[in-house]
Amino acid sequence: MKNLVINCGSSSIKYQFIDMADESVLAKGLVERIGIKGSVITHKVNGKKYVTETPMEDHKKAIKLVLDALLNDEYGVIKNIDEISAVGHRIVHGGEKYSSSALIDDDVMKSIEECVSLAPLHNPAHIIGINACRELMPKAPMVAVFDTAFHQTMPDYAYMYAIPNEYYKKYKIRKYGFHGTSHKYVSRTAAEFVGRNVEDLKMVVCHMGNGASITAVQNGESVDTSMGFTPLGGLVMGTRSGDMDPAVVTFLMEKLNISASEVNTILNKKSGIEGLSEISSDMRDIKKGNYVDKDPKAILAYSVFNYKVKQFIGSYTAIMNGLDCLVFTGGIGENSFENRREICKNMEYLGIKIDDAKNDATMGVPMDISAEGSKVRVLVIPTNEELMIARDTKDIVSKLK
Ligand code: ADP
Repeated sequence: MKNLVINCGSSSIKYQFIDMADESVLAKGLVERIGIKGSVITHKVNGKKYVTETPMEDHKKAIKLVLDALLNDEYGVIKNIDEISAVGHRIVHGGEKYSSSALIDDDVMKSIEECVSLAPLHNPAHIIGINACRELMPKAPMVAVFDTAFHQTMPDYAYMYAIPNEYYKKYKIRKYGFHGTSHKYVSRTAAEFVGRNVEDLKMVVCHMGNGASITAVQNGESVDTSMGFTPLGGLVMGTRSGDMDPAVVTFLMEKLNISASEVNTILNKKSGIEGLSEISSDMRDIKKGNYVDKDPKAILAYSVFNYKVKQFIGSYTAIMNGLDCLVFTGGIGENSFENRREICKNMEYLGIKIDDAKNDATMGVPMDISAEGSKVRVLVIPTNEELMIARDTKDIVSKLK
């Protein structure tokens, strides 16, 4: 079985084509600027890059170009479109309906549509992408893999906000949580790495990339997570504020005489480590500002970021009454020994102690960075959302026959 994984954004598509026999990536790529001047597809096979700039008026044209690249005479990896066994689609919001991935049919399409108000930037793009794929690959079964699904196991006291209940009933305002595909993949891989059943472990998974979220995983299930109604909540991120007193929103609107949409832009695009540092949304620049340039604003942004992660680790250890594994993943979690060192500093009381030499030597594979005698196993596990989507797709499609 060879599965195509599609992650469709409003003007971009990320894709991977995976051979499920050995889970190898046969080809992958990125289409950018769909419907905008300067559309480009960057296709990669065996570490080689093929860049084609060509007009793409819509997602259908973009998907057609992805298929053309997979079929290309020179660098293609298939001879016939029917070699694509199934297509797995990343879907940001599945609302309360989906606690696992689902075979796409008209009902599923309707549900994704119903969640548009909860993810107005993402779900419409997913619908357009699925429709384009259905037209171009009418024989391939399609599977929806939801970012929210893994968190549907949270108890109501974790996901309900203390606002009038009617807003939950009318508008489904509650915590959903995101990055679920990554948290699920990483928790399973971590359990396998330590040779234990995921059902027997209490874990905190820190997914720290441009977007960042933390999940408490108990008995293999998400019991709480830091992102909320939208991916704005929780940790401090590249350009997102994370949690704060909700009164700041109305205060800013009144003080600056700005609209809801303008304040939304400030909190999503101009805040986080970029807003605090006035330097960059990239953690590498913030680290340089902190360690090399000793810029006070970079030092502050770096400290606030690490402090928030530490706070969540403590709170999730409390709600689970213990912790077996602390897991780091995502661009920052996997690559930045400095952030991991700061976050894990002074946590001996919780049984967390890392070995500096091991922590400094991580290299893109699962690693245990705990110090000798650390009660909690501290792990670095590279995430792989595409593989998780391809696996879910395989599981669902295999049952059809
Ligand atoms: P996304 O959320 O967009 O998928 P990634 O998980 O790829 O993001 O993470 C991207 C972020 O990882 C970058 O913004 C960068 O700040 C951070 N990053 C990558 N390498 C390092 C490093 N060595 N040190 C600190 N941060 C890093």
